[in-house]
Amino acid sequence: MCRHLAYLGPPVPLSRLLFDPPHGLAHQSWAPRDMRGGGTINADGFGLGWFPPVLSERLPVVYRSARPLWSDPALPGLAAATSSGAVLAAVRSATVGMPVTESAAAPFHDGPWLFSHNGRITGWPDSVVDVAAGLPVRDLITLDAPTDSALLWALVRARLRAGATLGDALSSVVTSVAAAAPGSRLNLLLTDGQSIAAVVYGHALSVLASEGSVLVASEPVDDDPGWRAVPSLSLLVADPSAVHISEGAFA
Ligand code: GLN
Repeated sequence: MCRHLAYLGPPVPLSRLLFDPPHGLAHQSWAPRDMRGGGTINADGFGLGWFPPVLSERLPVVYRSARPLWSDPALPGLAAATSSGAVLAAVRSATVGMPVTESAAAPFHDGPWLFSHNGRITGWPDSVVDVAAGLPVRDLITLDAPTDSALLWALVRARLRAGATLGDALSSVVTSVAAAAPGSRLNLLLTDGQSIAAVVYGHALSVLASEGSVLVASEPVDDDPGWRAVPSLSLLVADPSAVHISEGAFA
């Protein structure tokens, strides 16, 4: 299963999330510790989304690739030279039958929103035809990729556009997809650069909150004793000053 993380706080070089920690996202791409639900490594693409601290528009920059994260020779230098206080990054292990293309790698994005999914929809695609039918046709014919994650993003984005909060958008999508496709793994991660929302549904998530920053990750990136495991079936909503965990939100 894919690995993802999101950070909010004082600007840090992207390398502080990817390459510098002993179990940063680069290490998780080839040596993940917890790949329950399928896959062994996350070699089917990666993506970074970050809000540049110097731009007044506050829209994120996104860099996605279909290659393994470790195989991009420009990335270590780029990550060391690029700082941000709001980041979402992911490495992908493609579900069997799904294409390996740049546009299938997270983060999926639109406006201020960055989104990632770790897991799979059981019975794809038939199980969620009715759920997808609720989307505007335009959204369906412009999906990023013919994958479960891209559909989940379209469902989340439709709710955000309608005015839902980050947490409500994720909750609503998980509730409807889980009902249509029981047994799905729906670990979702979303940020707008101000706050983070995440769902733990079928896989692990940990959070590290310290003075004025918060880091949420599929696997802790280091052995800091402050890491907390987020209980299964929870909704997490966090910003640099507070972490709220709704336990049993999807029980
Ligand atoms: N099913 C998604 C994809 O193929 C996510 C895969 C995963 O979490 N490993 O992109």
